[in-house]
Amino acid sequence: MELSDSPYVAVNMQIMTRMGRKVLDVLGPDGNFVPCLHSVGMPLEPGQADVPWPCNPNEKYIVHFPEERAIWSYGSGYGGNALLGKKCFALRIASVLARDEGWLAEHMLILGVESPQGEKTYVAAAFPSACGKTNFAMLIPPTTFSDEGWKVTTVGDDIAWIKAGADGKIHAINPENGFFGVAPGTSERSNPNAMASITENTIFTNVALTDDGDVWWEGMTKQPPAHLIDWTGKDWTPDCGRKAAHANARFTAPISQCPSIDPAFEDPQGVPIAAFIFGGRRSGVVPLVYQAFNWVYGVYGAATMGSEMTAAAAGTLGQVRRDPFAMLPFCGYHMADYFNHWLNFGRRLPNPPRIFNVNWFRTDAQGNFIWPGFGENMRVLKWIVERAHGRAVSIESPLGWMPRYEDLDWRGSDFTREEFEQLMTVDRDVWKQEILSHDELFIRLYDKLPKELLYIRELTLSGLWRAPEHWALAHE
Ligand code: GDP
Ligand code: MN
Repeated sequence: MELSDSPYVAVNMQIMTRMGRKVLDVLGPDGNFVPCLHSVGMPLEPGQADVPWPCNPNEKYIVHFPEERAIWSYGSGYGGNALLGKKCFALRIASVLARDEGWLAEHMLILGVESPQGEKTYVAAAFPSACGKTNFAMLIPPTTFSDEGWKVTTVGDDIAWIKAGADGKIHAINPENGFFGVAPGTSERSNPNAMASITENTIFTNVALTDDGDVWWEGMTKQPPAHLIDWTGKDWTPDCGRKAAHANARFTAPISQCPSIDPAFEDPQGVPIAAFIFGGRRSGVVPLVYQAFNWVYGVYGAATMGSEMTAAAAGTLGQVRRDPFAMLPFCGYHMADYFNHWLNFGRRLPNPPRIFNVNWFRTDAQGNFIWPGFGENMRVLKWIVERAHGRAVSIESPLGWMPRYEDLDWRGSDFTREEFEQLMTVDRDVWKQEILSHDELFIRLYDKLPKELLYIRELTLSGLWRAPEHWALAHE
């Protein structure tokens, strides 16, 4: 239950959550809820009341009380700090509830893959912010796949609540009711499902306004309009040297408007998850895709996941930040206890979901992405789904199970074997550095770190030493 002094919050929450009378009816007179208090914290001193920002420019507190299960947010009107049902409740507080009650609250999209034979497989994927969750959740398969009957459906694009069912399977729901997506870069070309989702009943935040009353942002069209009102309210022309929309401009849209919406997206039982996928933004080191040898290896891969800041200038190597499970900013308790919670969760499952790592962002010597990404990710997703059902072929690499070129479906693609092998190389020296950098994270968490992760580190190292120095699929 959120109390806010911001009308912006009220109208956004109406889209982002299931709210209102029906919720009160479910809660009844003594239902449990998390009280959330939000204020934009406009300064009240005389002469300061017309500060042009919908927030307090000097003081901000975003405070979570996991023991009491309450949230106080002061001084910020920004999405994640103001729409308290999202990251504050559905991840930070919910992760604590999940620890106590034996389930998982994760920073994950949920999607469904339907084969031409009608077999439906759901996967959940954790990528850090700005690493492709919304795009992957709304993936449109290449025409060679869709013509044949392959379909990808969307259950959620940001948060998943996951519970083990009495059937031994795990089931995931999307606790949200809307998309709060990044607008810049979203276009008919890059994400048609997102564009179709925002044609009505949508709130746009910090975008530019066209002369005919429509919205615009960088990347929406190749040709920018000749004149706009920019996100700060000033006149804007293409040559003025400023961005028309804020780089973090957003759309808030009901999930029900997404053309790829999954029929089960509101099923309170959730959808059965066959695979977990983890992926960051890495210009090198991490291959396009590999499957962890088992649940514990999978937890190791997710715990040591890293992502690079987008390079400011060409040729600058982005610094790698460890973002375990894409949850570092969102876990409501000690990260090492969280790893242990994941290990325990897997132990209780008779047949735990398979765990995969992906990296869409490996670059060549010129800094260009080698992998085309977006809809082409379907080729990797298909292999993942087949693996999850115990069907597709793979070989053992130093890191996990990997597809060879011939194990992926390349129909309708001109991606070459050489390019693919470039994406799949595992270099021993580079991985020695990588593992040292995993250690930096482990040392910070040392007092509570599950010992399994140290053993997996040792096994990974020994795998690298047994393999050729530059392990490549060509060695097979
Ligand atoms: P989210 O914040 O995790 O939901 O990420 P988004 O889906 O909004 O994407 C963040 C950025 O990554 C956008 O600029 C996308 O264009 C880009 N992106 C998403 N998927 C891919 C991909 O497969 N390949 C490449 N190269 N970029 C991608
Ligand atoms: Mn997103």
